[in-house]
Amino acid sequence: MNDKQKFLKVAIDVPINQLFDYLPNDEPFSIGQYVTIPFGRRRIIGVIYGISLNSDIHPSKLKSVINVDPEIIFDAPMFKLLTFVSEYYHHPIGQTIMSVVPSRLKKNLNQLRQFELIYQATSKLTKEFINQLPPRQLRIRKVAEAILIKDRRQTDVMKLVSNWSECIRQLETYGCLKSKKYDPQVDFTAVEIPSLNSEQKAVIKAITKKQGYQASLIFGITGSGKTEVYMQLIEHILLESESQALILVPEINLTPQLENRFRTRFPNKKLVSLHSHLTDIERLDNWRKAKSGEANIVIGTRLAIFTPMPFIKIIIIDEEHDISFKQQDGLRYHARDVALVRAKHMNIPIVLGTATPSLESWHNATRTDNKYNFLKLSFRAVKNAALPEIKTVLVNDKTKNGISRILVDAVSNRLKRKEQSLIFINRRGFAPTLFCASCSWSSECKRCSSKLVVHRKTNRLKCHHCGHDQNLIIRCPNCDGMNLRPLGSGTQKIEEVLNGLFPEASILRVDRDTTRSKKSLTLLHDRMNKREIDILVGTQMLAKGHDFPFLTLVGVLDADNALYSPDYRAPEKLFSQLMQVSGRAGRSNIKGEVLIQTAFPNNPVFEGVKKHNYEIFARTLLQERQQMSLPPYSFSAILRVESKKINYGEQFVNSAAKFAESLSNKVVIYDPVRPSIERLKGYERFQLFIQADTRKDLQTLLREWVAYLRQCALASRVKWSIDVDPIEF
Ligand code: ADP
Ligand code: ZN
Ligand code: ZN
Repeated sequence: MNDKQKFLKVAIDVPINQLFDYLPNDEPFSIGQYVTIPFGRRRIIGVIYGISLNSDIHPSKLKSVINVDPEIIFDAPMFKLLTFVSEYYHHPIGQTIMSVVPSRLKKNLNQLRQFELIYQATSKLTKEFINQLPPRQLRIRKVAEAILIKDRRQTDVMKLVSNWSECIRQLETYGCLKSKKYDPQVDFTAVEIPSLNSEQKAVIKAITKKQGYQASLIFGITGSGKTEVYMQLIEHILLESESQALILVPEINLTPQLENRFRTRFPNKKLVSLHSHLTDIERLDNWRKAKSGEANIVIGTRLAIFTPMPFIKIIIIDEEHDISFKQQDGLRYHARDVALVRAKHMNIPIVLGTATPSLESWHNATRTDNKYNFLKLSFRAVKNAALPEIKTVLVNDKTKNGISRILVDAVSNRLKRKEQSLIFINRRGFAPTLFCASCSWSSECKRCSSKLVVHRKTNRLKCHHCGHDQNLIIRCPNCDGMNLRPLGSGTQKIEEVLNGLFPEASILRVDRDTTRSKKSLTLLHDRMNKREIDILVGTQMLAKGHDFPFLTLVGVLDADNALYSPDYRAPEKLFSQLMQVSGRAGRSNIKGEVLIQTAFPNNPVFEGVKKHNYEIFARTLLQERQQMSLPPYSFSAILRVESKKINYGEQFVNSAAKFAESLSNKVVIYDPVRPSIERLKGYERFQLFIQADTRKDLQTLLREWVAYLRQCALASRVKWSIDVDPIEF
């Protein structure tokens, strides 16, 4: 049969759950390639999902593809995984596939198939040469000056000036530049590989004992040597000639540290990282190295689970409990869960590691049929590294400025000893709201049901949900009085209070307002290591993975907020967050101290944290979940609906509920409710929670339900989405 008589089934980025038929053009084609196609009046990009001899549409009505790119972007195992993901999360197949294609390919800028370059100065490039350039060639001068100092990568030049490629071209015509392919290299000093302790050995033995698919949960406290175990497992696996390892980490902030550790450990292996701090070119380049099998080790965040890797032999998920593995919009997948499916498809081992396992993983590892290997690392690997002492400090409304006397004294002691302190408050800005003492007016966002936050440094009122930003007011808009006060505290306020208490200390605030880039975090590490900073005030940005050897005190100011949360996962999240911040104190040989301010010191969360005992706490929580038939003892999904007009959303969610009830008596359909933030960015929000005893019952209902919702007349007037295995309410 000749290729001309075949039909291409193309996946494209449209919210319709189907493939689109096209005729081939004269170019050769195969599954997994991407094509430019006419769609309506536009030209768009799609991926060839299948090739068929039939089409439901008569060939005379079909259009031909415009262009076929020779690169095969997904192989058969990736299509299998993506098809599963589309069906499981009830997300249209084309949108599922297109949401994991590197964005640079989607823009069809593929002509730039080059590698990243690095530019070097030739002997022609001198100070004198730069000085004689016409003054208006400002950008060219800037680029030339930078390259004169040292070699610069393409991505660095891009950040330097706009119109960078023109500047480079000019300098090249002047004969000032040479370029070559950029290849990340590090200076390798031989690293000493620690000999494993008996617990670590047992863990490795258990994981390598079996061939093929097997999930293992490493439950190990911070510093117990989990990363060391990952590295030795990978070493073992990379002994095979064609092999690749994938490591997922929750946060981009953590990747540079881990990346360095792996690079120095595996100097002869090719390692690439995949995360959103990379430029599109870097990302595509790294993705291609993974896809070709050239990269042996891939370290990435959530989305990296969808990287094609022909020789993948192991998947490791670090901090598996972390909720940032769950995508909260668009394709709402959970990277850990997708990873488990991928490992099963590929018949390879998967390792989940954490100090505070998610209850789902805990349940799977401890149930009688041992779905996962349950492996423990119970002490710190470095000799003499003790766990910090964790205490609660009772606070109440009268606690001045939100910081207790005990905590102030503890900070003051650290200052005397030249040690560092971290004060943790999960709220940026100066105060969470502006309040009128005369008429009780408070600053609310017009587009969201939330308060506008006072930012005193910049004199602004900001909504942290929609980004609304206005001048700080001094007169009450309701009563015209002059009695407006900031209420409560955020990072800026605490910084101010500490500055007042310790005028001679060097205090640094770290939150999204002060610290946006990777660079500023690196700088922060340098300054902390040089002991230029005495006190850090920060949000959860600082909670994870940062190692500061001279930090010996952590104070937690607003832990109680989580206790009021309607989210049944809140205690679990609070526990892991507290363990994580505690992990910041006393990483080296000086013993650390953690002070948690609370009005409820007897709460089981704090009891467990004080004893460093997650195990008892997890068991208690699991019992509660079982009694209340909550996950992991049941399976759930949420229908989320948003509309500009309140009655459209309401009607839609009500009819959805009614239809769902008619579908099954095995699935509990709860009443539609408003989420805790009822209005967001001007949209009225509703949600509907459904729950079943088995995944199968839930999925059966979802299939019919989603098909109905997609063709529902009201669907065009609202935005709706299905969230399977939701983790936020
Ligand atoms: P985790 O990932 O569990 O937080 P790491 O693997 O980072 O733990 O180990 C914490 C520290 O202990 C690191 O400095 C690491 O080099 C060291 N370490 C790990 N295993 C051993 C060992 N068997 N002997 C000595 N030091 C070890
Ligand atoms: Zn007022
Ligand atoms: Zn808002």
